[in-house]
Amino acid sequence: MGYHYDDQNIFAKILRGEIPSEPLLDTEHSLAFRDIRPQAPTHVLVIPKGPYVCYDHFAQDASDAEIVDFTRALGSMCKELGVAGNGWRMIANAGADAVQEVPHMHVHILAGRSLGRMLEPAS
Ligand code: AMP
Repeated sequence: MGYHYDDQNIFAKILRGEIPSEPLLDTEHSLAFRDIRPQAPTHVLVIPKGPYVCYDHFAQDASDAEIVDFTRALGSMCKELGVAGNGWRMIANAGADAVQEVPHMHVHILAGRSLGRMLEPAS
């Protein structure tokens, strides 16, 4: 299946500076900022700057440099946020069944409270 990237999504607008943001980290290929509707005391999003729809798209098509930069950015954020102590969760929603809202690849870093079991039963 091919991926179609819609450059009108909100994270694309943040990357182009059309919507203000307060980056926690800004590297050559990645950006991190706080989620606007936090689900935990710590809720940070890490995104690549390239036009990737979701993690599988990124993992298939991004360059080695982008993938290394993204992974290191995630590591830097985890260190800076101090999530190693009590633990954290990484979520990457992709597509309809995962209820992905923003079609630009992003990883959620969630921490700061007990996060419960991985999944709720399907409703
Ligand atoms: P997902 O369901 O994985 O696509 O999650 C998208 C996330 O983006 C949600 O948790 C939203 O709260 C968050 N979000 C949407 N708009 C913004 C924004 N302008 N700044 C920061 N986070 C946002």
